[in-house]
Amino acid sequence: MSVVDEIRCSHCGAPMPFEPGEIIATCKYCGYTVVIETGKVFTFEHSMLLNKYDPTLIEEPIKNWMRTGFLKPSDLAKKSKITEKNLIYLPFWLVSVEAESTYKGIFERITPPVVKEGKIEKEYDWLVLARKATEFPTKEYDVPLKGKIPYDFRKVEAFAKILNSETDKNEAVELARQQIEEHHRYLAQQDVDRIIEMKDEIKINQVVYLHAPIWFVEYEYKDKTYQLLVDGASGTVIKGDIPSTGFGIF
Ligand SMILES: [Zn+2]
Repeated sequence: MSVVDEIRCSHCGAPMPFEPGEIIATCKYCGYTVVIETGKVFTFEHSMLLNKYDPTLIEEPIKNWMRTGFLKPSDLAKKSKITEKNLIYLPFWLVSVEAESTYKGIFERITPPVVKEGKIEKEYDWLVLARKATEFPTKEYDVPLKGKIPYDFRKVEAFAKILNSETDKNEAVELARQQIEEHHRYLAQQDVDRIIEMKDEIKINQVVYLHAPIWFVEYEYKDKTYQLLVDGASGTVIKGDIPSTGFGIF
């Protein structure tokens, strides 16, 4: 069990419980967002994406997902039962950057090998999860940024949970930087076999704190439990466990 601490919202006076490790908290009752350590108001842009589903409606995109695609048992939608559906607003940092990498490497796929140079120029809205212990497939999550609005606590459903941030803006920017450099290294390696020189220039344009509605779903199929993550803004299954189709060695 985690120990829950509490501060009072300096805007509306309501209790604001928070857990160890959390550093930015949002009041459930008025939407006030505070930096826990200093008690001061959070001054960066705080946005959210809207959830479009209630606990009944969310079953529809899930059943559709079960009915389509390869490798799924044909009776999956019919025979499975959704046993858990929890809507959680997960905190993210959205780091908008212009990234430019120049590289020099050796192309060894031909004889004799040649030295090749190249340049990667990209713009990203790079997503960093603001939780440390939570596993979330940020790479598979195509954030529907068109629906981004300023954070509005009135739009958060009573049955939903909002998670606070465990990383600050600077940590998020650093993580984004590392991940982008790693990604560019990967891209460069599609072009050259061995990198001998690489220079990255990453310009941070904007950093936004974002709460996004994610449904954490569990379903049962033939006495086993499986998990799904569903984007509440679009109904897209971000990641899902699929039961084995049973065409095994038996
Ligand atoms: Zn409040």
